Amino acid sequence: MSKTISPPPATPINEIPTTIARLRTTFQSHRTRSVEWRKQQLRKLWWGLHDNENDISAALWQDLKKSEHEALQSDGIWLKNAIIDALGDIDNWVKEVPVTADLLAKAGSPTIRKEPLGVVLIIGAYNYPFQLTLGPLLGAIAAGNCAVIKPSEISQASCAIVTKIITEYLDPDAFAVVNGVIPETTKLLEQKFDKICYTGNGVVGRIVAAAAAKHLTPTILELGGLNPVIITKNADVKLAARRVCWGKSLNAGQVCLSPDYAIVPASKENEFISTMAATWRKFYPNGVQASADYPRIVNDRHFNRIKNLIETTSGEIKIGGQTDESEKYIDLTVVKVKDENDALMKEEIFGPVMPYVVIDDVDDAIEFANRVSDTPLALYIFTTDKKEANYILGRTRSGGATVNDTIWHGASHKLPFGGVGESGMGSYRDKFGFDAFSHHRTTVRQAGGWFEMVLDARYPPYLPSKLAQY
Ligand code: NAD
Repeated sequence: MSKTISPPPATPINEIPTTIARLRTTFQSHRTRSVEWRKQQLRKLWWGLHDNENDISAALWQDLKKSEHEALQSDGIWLKNAIIDALGDIDNWVKEVPVTADLLAKAGSPTIRKEPLGVVLIIGAYNYPFQLTLGPLLGAIAAGNCAVIKPSEISQASCAIVTKIITEYLDPDAFAVVNGVIPETTKLLEQKFDKICYTGNGVVGRIVAAAAAKHLTPTILELGGLNPVIITKNADVKLAARRVCWGKSLNAGQVCLSPDYAIVPASKENEFISTMAATWRKFYPNGVQASADYPRIVNDRHFNRIKNLIETTSGEIKIGGQTDESEKYIDLTVVKVKDENDALMKEEIFGPVMPYVVIDDVDDAIEFANRVSDTPLALYIFTTDKKEANYILGRTRSGGATVNDTIWHGASHKLPFGGVGESGMGSYRDKFGFDAFSHHRTTVRQAGGWFEMVLDARYPPYLPSKLAQY
């Protein structure tokens, strides 16, 4: 994988309004309403991914040193499978759904029509540059929309391949890519869209939401947070350590669902740490840095941010701590945190660092997790006691949750994915993606003729006898 992929040029700012006007004209031509046209675009997207599979792997290697295995499992093949399933189900998704109603409304055979919204904007983040742009796009296409895609400029090579796939394979009058940094995105956000799907951090999420509000545009905000792992006295701690290690290894922790910190009972602490260390050695038998399976931090800014967290923590480093600036390499670093105000517990880490605290009582663990963040994107619970798992689920909130594993509720392309509160709003994927980019239009087809006699009760003058008929 030695080929170097050049970043795409920034889109000229003055072209942005014209591009959106072109897409809107296409939408208004009703071309995108045809289910056949949507299927054709989905098939083309599949071929775009298929034909460019080597470039997808090469781009993710260049941007993040992601192994081909990880690249295809979470971006390339993942998306192709999602498209295959959508193509199989789209005829059902688009069906007009009859609604059960009261007697008067029933006469009008009420239905819900699944209608496209119009022209939508999809802004992606750098960590899964294909999945986070083309994943929402899949739902937008299935629902019959036109779309503008703004990939993250941080994963530059991936940006180039996303651009190539969209411009070379999809209908250019219905889909466009805008590349660039803040000026381009700001110009984009000044335009009117019918929905915006933004994936990234909460600070920019607020900028996107404020810009959208000016046009009354609804948003899907896919944000992050500090995801807790609650390990109880009833946990299989070896299993927990192994599965936490896997969750943390993915993309070197640059995952919105990454297990951010752990809460461990004192009786399990030593076993948890020793099993994590042993698992890590088993994952990378020839050394972590030497392994082609372990990614790197995306850029110097993020490398220095994470390195600084390791260097300034008041906690005790139990595992790892090694960094290498020349490669933007950071090893798995597990830190026993004693001070709740440690920076490691204050912001999303988005890297391979994992603080933990020792707490014995389940209620104390719940209270601690809720204090750190009461609406993380993910919550992980390790216990062999189902009642205990339900007890914790019933006293916490999070975008999604997995019991006895990490990442898994977010791994399937069939399950809805989204946050709550600080971790975002709205969800998508599969039918949930189709619904997220559809308008559910309640439609009644009222009967005429003799039915007018039944409706007579609604017309003035409002005699008491007419009210009695309702
Ligand atoms: P990023 O730096 O790639 O930025 C995300 C997008 O925001 C990019 O397209 C970028 O161009 C745009 N952007 C940046 N500044 C902007 C501005 N001032 N105005 C308008 N747009 C702007 O990625 P990031 O934000 O660092 O991503 C990491 C965050 O994303 C983490 O918090 C992570 O948890 C979250 N995330 C969430 C999900 C999810 O599905 N919930 C998935 C991946 C990442």
